Amino acid sequence: MIENFDLHCHSTASDGLLGPAELVRRAAARGVSTLALTDHDDLSGLEEARDTAREVGIGFVDGVEISVTWSGTTIHIVGLGIDPENETLVRGLDTVRDSRTVRAEHIAAGLTAAGIPGSLEGAYTFAENPRLIGRTHFARFLVARGHVRDVRTVFQRFLVSGKPGYAPHQWASLGEAVGWITASGGRAVVAHPGRYKLDRAEMRRFLAAFKSAGGEGVEVVTGSHTRAQYSEFGALARELGLLASRGSDFHGPQESAIELGSLPPLPAHLTPVWHDWS
Ligand code: AMP
Ligand code: MN
Ligand code: MN
Ligand code: MN
Repeated sequence: MIENFDLHCHSTASDGLLGPAELVRRAAARGVSTLALTDHDDLSGLEEARDTAREVGIGFVDGVEISVTWSGTTIHIVGLGIDPENETLVRGLDTVRDSRTVRAEHIAAGLTAAGIPGSLEGAYTFAENPRLIGRTHFARFLVARGHVRDVRTVFQRFLVSGKPGYAPHQWASLGEAVGWITASGGRAVVAHPGRYKLDRAEMRRFLAAFKSAGGEGVEVVTGSHTRAQYSEFGALARELGLLASRGSDFHGPQESAIELGSLPPLPAHLTPVWHDWS
């Protein structure tokens, strides 16, 4: 079988549009040989996804994407090969989800003040997992109500700094998130590093802090990166001795430009995050 690792995607357990089983079937049909499900701050889709992967005969990795605040910037840390039963991880993610529930009330209050009432209830109708509410669910509500053309445009006009429905938020610390992942036997990987508003010096400072917290890898080939960024972060991974990961960050056929398993391979000079997986 040709190796095709896709180590970042979302199901209805967080803000994806497909249920875990449907997502895994789609990945298998598109040639993915090993999939990691990495829902935001939540592990509830993993069992169904793992069972389906066994059924359709592809590899499966238990994953998660944890929201972190580092030096005032929101950063996402993917955990790969985590143990979904690990108490430290489970309790940590519980606190993050609780904070999402509180943030959602602030988002809704902001939208009400901007003349858009009912968004809290509205967002929850788009959240199949009531324990995990996020901006994407608000975005889908705003599109459904005809306020905005599509989800992408929502993130230009609402829910971001300076716009209606923005709620500043303190996520987990870098040390907490990496600590929960490693405590559960997982490997911590920086998600889509090219998306953060950090200059070169700040990115290096961040990656140094990530490494000293126990982090091991960075996404190099991701749906969020340009080809130039594959090279940029490939070089950085090599220089800093970080493993390289590959993941689509697929959220659903309607919302993601990048399909499951359809990204180019990792540059050949890198050590893949899966290099020592059996
Ligand atoms: P949250 O973690 O609740 O703040 O929501 C973050 C999620 O919003 C991301 O994982 C994406 O799914 C979505 N998102 C953020 N920015 C954009 C964007 N510019 N276009 C589409 N979706 C976005
Ligand atoms: Mn998302
Ligand atoms: Mn992310
Ligand atoms: Mn993601």
